[in-house]
Amino acid sequence: MNAPLPAEMLKQHLIDPEICIRCNTCEETCPVDAITHDGRNYVVDPAICNRCMACVPPCPTGSIDNWRLMLREQAYSLEDQFGWDELPLEKPSPAADMPAAAEPREPQGAAASETQAPVFAAPGSVVPPWSAAHPYVNLYAPKAPVTATVVGNFRVTDTEMGSDVHHIVLDFGKQFFPVLEGQSLGILPPGTDAQGRAHFARQYSIASPRDGERPGYNNLSLTVKRVTEDYEGKPFNGVCSNYLCDLAKGDTVQVIGPFGSSFLMPNHARANLLMICTGTGSAPMRAMTEHCRRRIGQDENGKLMLFFGARTERELPYFGPLMKLPKDFIDINLALSREPDQPKRYVQDAIVERAADVAALLADEDTYIYVCGLKGMEAGVLQALSEVAGPQWDALHAKLREQGRLHLETY
Ligand code: FAD
Repeated sequence: MNAPLPAEMLKQHLIDPEICIRCNTCEETCPVDAITHDGRNYVVDPAICNRCMACVPPCPTGSIDNWRLMLREQAYSLEDQFGWDELPLEKPSPAADMPAAAEPREPQGAAASETQAPVFAAPGSVVPPWSAAHPYVNLYAPKAPVTATVVGNFRVTDTEMGSDVHHIVLDFGKQFFPVLEGQSLGILPPGTDAQGRAHFARQYSIASPRDGERPGYNNLSLTVKRVTEDYEGKPFNGVCSNYLCDLAKGDTVQVIGPFGSSFLMPNHARANLLMICTGTGSAPMRAMTEHCRRRIGQDENGKLMLFFGARTERELPYFGPLMKLPKDFIDINLALSREPDQPKRYVQDAIVERAADVAALLADEDTYIYVCGLKGMEAGVLQALSEVAGPQWDALHAKLREQGRLHLETY
């Protein structure tokens, strides 16, 4: 039981900077905006956090789940937390100095205790589909990463286009690195940042199915976009994406993870997959589609419907192989926003155009929805789904979320 704390005491919520992969999930999930970040660390404002726990289940690494009992006046400030490379050691419990009768208590009414049901601010599910296979997570952390060898690295977008996306195959040899479709991993780029601190890990979705990029091999693939400009369009070379895209066959990389325990595909027969993605958000969709493709003929697959957005056809990763998939296996809808002489079309436009078929899928209790790609797509996609579903959207949205049937991963 978590008894309430006296008002002068605080159970401070902290994020472990050594394990955090800076995925922004906690900041997005926090219903009271207590979490913020700088170029390096994610931090929790002790004056705002009410310990509602909404951010804890979605965190892929568990780095969010750190708590320190202390006197309120000694709480670590945001400035303290921004400066950390690792969590400070636990201080001796101030409860020990308190009168014996004074059990640590939370201030009345101010905070939810850990036993209270979480408040979910996120629009997507934080639980997996009921039938998803059990994932392994956090087998390797930054202090003890696993070494993988690059066995393939080639470009999957047209070489004449600005968008340079690479398909990178990593082999783990005899080391244990089990993954499921929808999971991700972290890459530790070598070298240090401007302050001389080791670069933090960057997260990448796994693009191959559970039995390997090559079936039966202990390997997996990633879909990595070379970052050459910042979000304002100013030239800027991203540390990890450039490192990965420049790797040669035989090079080794430091890997952590796997991560992710909710963006997983259903494991029961004839479940439908509604997949909506842009750019490298195609990686988990490729993994799920390939898993289903490998079982064609086994009477296992439900309906597969894909909405895939990019600026032009030539910037769609895996365009060629995708278009070769049998039409009765997957219903592919492309949405191109900068194709010359064509009106701009985004994934949300394509969803609304196919409203009747999307509505039929939404009405089916066996449909699971996956959205991955640019952060900006999320609101538009949810709006399009609500238009398609009509007045029952709010109830349906809540049900999809609760049942692990609506998964959003945008970055
Ligand atoms: P950094 O040196 O970290 O610089 C980042 C800066 O680059 C940003 O501040 C921004 O200004 C700019 N920028 C421009 N475009 C992007 C972009 N697309 N993403 C991030 N920053 C950008 N990336 C993939 O290529 N493939 C994936 O499958 C993939 N999966 C991801 C899954 C999750 C859950 C998350 C959170 C992120 C994922 N990313 C993926 C993004 C990836 O983790 C890195 O953020 C990205 O490769 C940029 O890292 P960097 O070190 O090259 O850039």
